This record gives sequence, C-alpha cells and structure tokens, in this order.
Amino acid sequence: MVFQRFSMVLMLFAALPVALLGQAQNTAKPKPHVVVIGVNGMELDVIRPLLLEGKMPNLSSVIKKGAYGKLRTVSAPNCPRVYSTFFTSTKPEEHGVTGFIVGGITANTNMLKEEPIWSMLSKNGVTVGMANVPATFPVMPVNGYMISGMLTRGKNCEDGVLCAPKLSEVQGGDAVYPPAMKAELLKNVGDFYIDCERMPSAADLKGHETEAIDAWLNKVQLIRDQQTQLFDYLLTRHPTEFTWLGQSCEDRTGHWLYPIAPYNAGYNPKVNAVRTEAFPDQYIAFDKVLGAVLKRVDDNTYVIIVSDHGIKPLREFEETDPHAHMDHEKTTPVVAKHDFADGDDVPGSFFAMGPGIKHDLRLMGFEASVYDLAPTILHIYGIEQPAQMRGHVLSEIFENSDKAIAKK
Ligand SMILES: [Zn+2]
Repeated sequence: MVFQRFSMVLMLFAALPVALLGQAQNTAKPKPHVVVIGVNGMELDVIRPLLLEGKMPNLSSVIKKGAYGKLRTVSAPNCPRVYSTFFTSTKPEEHGVTGFIVGGITANTNMLKEEPIWSMLSKNGVTVGMANVPATFPVMPVNGYMISGMLTRGKNCEDGVLCAPKLSEVQGGDAVYPPAMKAELLKNVGDFYIDCERMPSAADLKGHETEAIDAWLNKVQLIRDQQTQLFDYLLTRHPTEFTWLGQSCEDRTGHWLYPIAPYNAGYNPKVNAVRTEAFPDQYIAFDKVLGAVLKRVDDNTYVIIVSDHGIKPLREFEETDPHAHMDHEKTTPVVAKHDFADGDDVPGSFFAMGPGIKHDLRLMGFEASVYDLAPTILHIYGIEQPAQMRGHVLSEIFENSDKAIAKK
C-alpha cells in the first residue's frame, strides 16, 4: 500500500513535461544544495593510515571542515540491503530489499515497500540528480535525472550481481531517467560501464594470477575514469539541488586483494602477495574522484560522504557464521568480507561539511547510523521526517540547528 502511494506520485512526475518542472522550480526560493557521495565498503582501518600519510588530501579537507565518524550499519550488511536502508530509513525487512537476491530475484527498485528519499525530495519540489547509486535499477521517475548503478542488468551481466553492462547494453529495465537523456549521455560522455567489473573466478586466476589481477585492476581504473567524467558532466551540465553519486570498485577490490598477512584465513601468496597496495590504492583513486567533485561545488553546498559498511579479513568463526559468503563472491577466492552477522564488526563511515556544520568534529562510538542519513537530508531541506523513518536527524553535527539549515 505504501509502495502504491509513492509510486503514483512518481508516475505524476513521469507524466509532467520536464520544462514545466523547470518553470515551477524557477519561481520557488533557492533551496540548499546537497551532494552525497556513496562509497561502497569504505574501511576506516585502511583509510586512517592513508590520511596520516597525506595520500587522501581531499577527504582530509572534508574532515577538517566538517564532522565525521563511524556509521552503525545493519546486520549482515551488503550493498543493496544498506543502500535501501539509506533511501528509506527503515529496516531491511520493512523496505523489502534484504540482499542481492530476494526470493530468487535480483534486488530491484520494484521491490521497495517504503518511500525512498528521492521521491520525498521530488514531491517537495527539490531537484534530484542521482548517478551510479547502488540498487536504483530500474530507475524511477524523479524531479531531475537518475542513472542506475550496481545491480543494473544487461549483456554479460544478465543477473546484475557484481558486474556491469555498458550503458548501451542494459536490458530488463531503464538505466536512465528521463529516457531521452540516454542518447545525450552516449553522445557526450560515451558508452560507459554502469558499475564496477565482476571479480575474476578461481579458474580465471589459476596459473595466471598476476596477469588476471593486473588486467582487472586496469579495468577498474578505466571504469573509475569514466565515472569521473560522467560526474563532472552531470555536475556542470545538469546541476541539481540534491545530487547523489556512487562508487563501488573499492569494496570489490577489498574482497580478494585485502592486504592480509600470511597468518590470515585464505592467504595465497600467488594472489595476496602480488599487489598488496591494490586495495589502499582504491581509496587514493577515490580521493581523486572526490577532488573532481569538490571542484564543482561551492562553499554553500553540503557535501556528505557515506559508506554502507566496512570490510574486514575473514574471521575464525567463518565456519559457523550463517551469513558466510552470502550470495556475493561467486568463485573468487575472497580473503575479506562484510556480511558478518554483527554489523558492528564492519561499521560504515560518515563525513559531512557545509553551512553550519561543525568543523573537525569526531562522532564517537555509534552516535550515527545508516538510518540517520535520510532524516538528516530531509532536515537540511526543512522537510518533516515521516513517521516510518527509524533514524534521527544528526543535529549534533550542526552549530545551531535553528539557523544552520533552510527555514521551513
Ligand atoms: Zn562487498
């Protein structure tokens, strides 16, 4: 019932000519600008040494100018499960996207049983732009644009799980809203990969470990370069009041190239001693993407960086963990994972800066959770938190919550 309610509102957006929405927006008073950058599986244990070494200057600048800390995640966290919690601030059992596969079907937006934030913002006249955000396929109508991310299905990625078709190869639903924007993107950005590359299988690796690792890492960088170009294009040519961009190669690299020691579970020197910098390098590469995004935002823009969970080397209790290797890694020899039954083993992370947000504030313990993102964004826009949302506004990050945010 809830789903029907919000999908009907979204169908109205689908029916409205884009020009009309633009006119309506021009007559309204200026709204806050928020850019959210989602990083799949950002691990603070790996990030912190890089920050100390000065290898992530852009994230360092966000920390100095803002608030940051761990983000309590859900149990057995994985990308679609947590992202749909970000979208709705409800439990996985409530929003319906409980994992990569739900009832034998790859998770998709038609399964969402609670209203996502892009719908609430759109209804309140906020322009919305989303690109490569996980679990947004097939795309849904918004007051702006949406380009799907992880779990998009298509050629060479028929199940949509941890692989990606090119934009021209998408099947089984739309990857771009409004549909006319697809041709524009193909012309001006190119035929980019929607999401990160599938990890090599055990058979692909055997006897060709170094070549397979290097080839995969090269592809990951190609995909990241394409994403950077896409984000730059969108931020310059299609600026929106609320923008959400996603990155997901970091997590996948961590699963099988986490720089573990020989005593860790699963250590294989042919794979794990070859490119020990590959995983930290992903965050250095992410920092460059962040730098490109920061160039396109002004001081009055809220920038929020969130990760859905961390990632840790396999543990001694793997054998009895009911969530071990849950529908995620196929045959890749993984040495790290995040779907631990206790989500507190692999917290996500949160970084925010912008007008009225405290500087250099560290959130201690588990003050912030994945449920709090949507209420906090609604708060910035002066939109009341709906009753079903389980999180709270992170008011502690604001200097003065009365004057710091948009007046209602
Ligand atoms: Zn993962």
